[in-house]
Amino acid sequence: MIASEISPFAKTGGLADVIGTLSVALERLGHEVSVIAPAYRSVLQGKFPLHETSTKLSLPVSDRLENAAVLQSTIGQGIVVHLIRADPYFDRESLYGTTAGDYPDNAERFVFFSRAALELLRRQPVDIVHCHDWQTALAIVYLKSQAARYVETAAAKTVFTIHNLGFQGIFGPHDWRLLNLDSALFTPQLLEFYGNINFLKGALVLADKITTVSPSYAQEIITPAQGFGLDGVLGQRAADLVGILNGVDYSQWNPWTDPFIKCHYGEHSLPVKDDCKRNLRRIFGLPDKSDTPVLAMISRLTSQKGFDLIENIFESLMQRDVQIVLLGKGEPSYEQTFRAAATRYAGRVGVRIDFDEPLAHQIEAGADIFLMPSLYEPCGLNQMFSLKYGTIPIVRAVGGLKDTVQQCDIEAETGTGFVFEPYEAQALLRTIDRSLQVFHDKKAWAALQRRAMAMDFSWERSAKRYANLYRQLLNRGEIRGP
Ligand code: ADP
Repeated sequence: MIASEISPFAKTGGLADVIGTLSVALERLGHEVSVIAPAYRSVLQGKFPLHETSTKLSLPVSDRLENAAVLQSTIGQGIVVHLIRADPYFDRESLYGTTAGDYPDNAERFVFFSRAALELLRRQPVDIVHCHDWQTALAIVYLKSQAARYVETAAAKTVFTIHNLGFQGIFGPHDWRLLNLDSALFTPQLLEFYGNINFLKGALVLADKITTVSPSYAQEIITPAQGFGLDGVLGQRAADLVGILNGVDYSQWNPWTDPFIKCHYGEHSLPVKDDCKRNLRRIFGLPDKSDTPVLAMISRLTSQKGFDLIENIFESLMQRDVQIVLLGKGEPSYEQTFRAAATRYAGRVGVRIDFDEPLAHQIEAGADIFLMPSLYEPCGLNQMFSLKYGTIPIVRAVGGLKDTVQQCDIEAETGTGFVFEPYEAQALLRTIDRSLQVFHDKKAWAALQRRAMAMDFSWERSAKRYANLYRQLLNRGEIRGP
C-alpha cells in the first residue's frame, strides 16, 4: 500500500482509517502487507515506536536530487509501515495545507513521495502495488512509463483506489518540470487536463484495476454529474472499475468496548446510552432534558458534506425541541457560522472547532441522531459508526450512504435510518421532522436502534473482495467467499 495517510500515524479523514484497517484485515486473511507513507510531524512527534533504518534514498526532482531516510513502525501482527522521512517536505503543521490554503509545493511533495516509495519497492519487490488517491497516483505512472528504471518491479500489478474524486491533484503546466517525465505524456490521453497536469488522471488511465469505496459511487463517477470532469476517462475504464465498500474497524468503534467512552452498552442494554448522553451534554454545556434529542455531526467542514443545507435550515431547526452538537474543522466560513450559532444558542447548540478523536467517539455514543446530508459521499464512515452506536443516521441517498443506510419503515419494522433524495434544505428538514416523530415513540425508536446496531460492516468481507481482485490480476484464481 502506498498512501498519504494511515491511522493511527497521520489522519485527516477516512483514507487513513481505510489504509490502517484494510491492511490489517488483509493480513488476517493471510497476506503479507506493507505500507509506505510520509513521516509527517504527527509521526515524528507522536508516541509511536519508530525504528531508524539504514536505508537512504536519493531521487530526482526536476534537476535536483532530493534525499530521504526511512523510518519503520508496525501495525497488526507484523505489517511494516515504512515512513519516508524528508523533513523539508513533511515536517510541517499539517498534511496538505493550512486554513490559508494548500501548501504551494504540494505537487513537488507528492512527486517526491511517490518516487521515494518506488525506490523502496525496487529493494523489496512485491506482487501488487496498491496506490490511493492523487497523492500517490504518479507512482503508477512512473512504474508504467519508466519500466527501465523499475525492472525489479516489472511483474507487479497495479491497483488504484479513488477515495474521493473531488481531489485530483491538479497543478499548472509550469510544474511539469518537477515530474521528470517524457513530455509525450503531457497529453489529454494521459496527464493533461485542460492545459493543467492532473495526477489522478494518470493513474486512472494506467492502473491495471481501479477501485472506489462503494458500489454506488462506482456508478456515480462515470456520470457527468459526479465525474468531476473525469467521467469520460472513467467510462473508458468501466470494465476495470469496481466499487468495494469500506469496512469499519469494530475493535475501535464498538460501544461495548470503546476505550474513549465511560459507559458501555449494546443492543440489549440501550438505557446505558442515556449515561453517555448525559456525559456528552456535560462536555458541551447542554442541560439534561430527557425528551430532547441530541442531533450530531462530526465532519470536515466543507460543502461536500452538506453544510449549506444545514446553514439553510438552522433557524427552523432551532424552532424544534432539539439540541445540536458539532465537531469539525475546515472552511473558515463554516467555522465562523457554527461558532456564532453556538454563542447565539448557548445551552442548545454545542460546537467544537477541532479534530478530536476521543470526542468523536463520545459524540457517537451520546447522540440520538447523526446528520450526514452530503452532496456526494464516496463511502462515508460516520454513518456506519453511528449505526453500531444506535445513533440513528439521517443521510442523503448518495454514494456509500445509500449503500449502508436503509429507509426506516415503522409499520413494516424495517430500516436502519432516514434517507432523503434531493439535495434540498426542505427535504432534509422534512426528514429530520420524520425522525423526531419516531424518536418520541419510544418503542419504535428502540426497535430502530436495535436494527441499526445489528448491521455489520466489518472489514473481513471487503478485504476478501480486494484479495480476490489481487488474485484475479495475478491469475491465481479467486478464493470463494462473500
Ligand atoms: P471523509 O474521509 O470525506 O472526511 P469519512 O466519513 O470517510 O469522511 O471519514 C471521516 C473520518 O474522520 C471519520 O473517522 C471521522 O470520525 C473522522 N473525523 C472527521 N472530522 C473529525 C473531527 N473534527 N474530529 C475527529 N474525527 C473526525
